Amino acid sequence: MYCTALMSCNAMHKSKIEELLAGQIRRKMAVDGGHGVGGCDWDGRWNHVTKFLERPGPFTHPDFEPSAESLQFLLETCKILVIGAGGLGCELLKNLALSGFRIIHVVDMDTIDLSNLNRQFLFRPKDVGRPKAEVAANFINSRIPGCKVASRKCFSKMHQRKFHIIVCGLDSIIARRWMNGMLISLLSYEDGVLDPSSIIPLIDGGTEGFKGNARVILPGMTACIDCTLELYPPQINFPMCTIASMPRLPEHCIEYARILQWPKEKPFGGNLDGDNPEHIEWVFERARKRAAEFNITGVTYRLTQGVVKRIIPAVASTNAVIAAACATEVFKIATSAYIPLNNYLVFNDVDGLYTYTFEAERKENCSACSQVPQDLQFPSSAKLQEVLQFLTESASLQMKSPAITTTLEGKNKTLYLQSVKSIEERTRPNLCKTLKELGLSDGQELAVADVTTPQTVLFKLNFTT
Ligand SMILES: [Zn+2]
Repeated sequence: MYCTALMSCNAMHKSKIEELLAGQIRRKMAVDGGHGVGGCDWDGRWNHVTKFLERPGPFTHPDFEPSAESLQFLLETCKILVIGAGGLGCELLKNLALSGFRIIHVVDMDTIDLSNLNRQFLFRPKDVGRPKAEVAANFINSRIPGCKVASRKCFSKMHQRKFHIIVCGLDSIIARRWMNGMLISLLSYEDGVLDPSSIIPLIDGGTEGFKGNARVILPGMTACIDCTLELYPPQINFPMCTIASMPRLPEHCIEYARILQWPKEKPFGGNLDGDNPEHIEWVFERARKRAAEFNITGVTYRLTQGVVKRIIPAVASTNAVIAAACATEVFKIATSAYIPLNNYLVFNDVDGLYTYTFEAERKENCSACSQVPQDLQFPSSAKLQEVLQFLTESASLQMKSPAITTTLEGKNKTLYLQSVKSIEERTRPNLCKTLKELGLSDGQELAVADVTTPQTVLFKLNFTT
């Protein structure tokens, strides 16, 4: 179990992976020994699961051998880490627990907000203000006998090694990339060959309004989050000319009030606070007047709040569909009973219902998983500012606040660092200097740290003429 699923995703190392992972799982099973949960497994409790695991079917994996062992593995040994206990996380925890997974850890740093309650169904009004992970874990444990969900507010590298599969239900691309980078950092290579026993599969779900996606990532083997970064477009902003002179959408009118009128009139002391109802009301009123001038309808208080706070409404049904797809993939990989998704599912029910799957391809020079040194092409007369701009604006890098260091005359030198105020002030003058003035040479290595990755990314500077 668990091994054949991986194998089907990459025929190349087929037998070797199967062998290694099978051994790995057997060892884990022997070591973990099982978590006796006596008494809670009444007759027929897992009938809905054994139907998939104890008999063959037209869709089972060609190498699958039906047995009672698979269910025991789920119940007693398989250890799942769920990242996020929000809209997707609540669904995921419920689905996994009802599918027979019992050793589940859930991580979320967030606390429960009143606005979560319409869809994050493990929370009640009395839970508002409490940590999401803890409340979600307690709810599942009290409702589903034998389930042992443990909650955490943060995670470290040590903890991840212990999990068989990781599922992400996050709303942040940065957190996703960080997690992706973390799993890649756990891979071990011997003479350039990936050791399959170091792979921890990552199932990632994401939703945005009526759109969603689910994907299966085998770090080091299949496309990772950073391989397909172009699929996540950076924040969309409306062109200023549209906002200023030819609005067509209610959003354009709200942006007009927010970007142009607010800074000019500076009401309430100047700073716009998206959580302050009076501020939203102010923007709403101005936006409504603007919309009336251009015969645009649809400016509401709610939309104003959404635009100001950059909120995309969460849709409970989208979360349910994506979480179900993710939980199914976890089940398939954990049991090897079915061939897992290869490797990306798109879901959209904005207008009718549309879904399809495709195989996202690995990017040969992916900055996260390729182990290929990253090239930076700049003339020696380029300023450091331009390099910084490239790191943040390039569609395939999309860094947030990169810190650039290098080695000059045998010494470590910070060229620019934004996150610490004193260092930022000290290194800011470097931004206006050319690469040549900074003493950098052709072939120079630049180490770049950023919140999007737990590991420093190495770049090789190539001077162009
Ligand atoms: Zn990659």
